[in-house]
Amino acid sequence: MRPTQITANKSDATLRITWDTGRTVDYPFYQLAAACKCAACNDERARLSAEGKAFVPKSAVLEAIEPVGSYGINILWKDGCRYGIYTWDSLAALA
Ligand SMILES: [Zn+2]
Repeated sequence: MRPTQITANKSDATLRITWDTGRTVDYPFYQLAAACKCAACNDERARLSAEGKAFVPKSAVLEAIEPVGSYGINILWKDGCRYGIYTWDSLAALA
């Protein structure tokens, strides 16, 4: 799946993606931040998981979205992660 449209709605704290299948999905910012795949979050997630604890993202306030090649987006979180790449495949899996 690939998106045909991506719209960030900061007042609702959701990212709306319309996929080329015609399906529209609203992703809460919190869900996206919690799924961050950057090295720091992966390490933190693994550490907490070993202790049986849930991962909590540092920030779920969206600052900006940048395209990454043709395969995904990078989401910059205010006061949080800046290097978590969200591929189309990973976003489709979160839907
Ligand atoms: Zn991260």
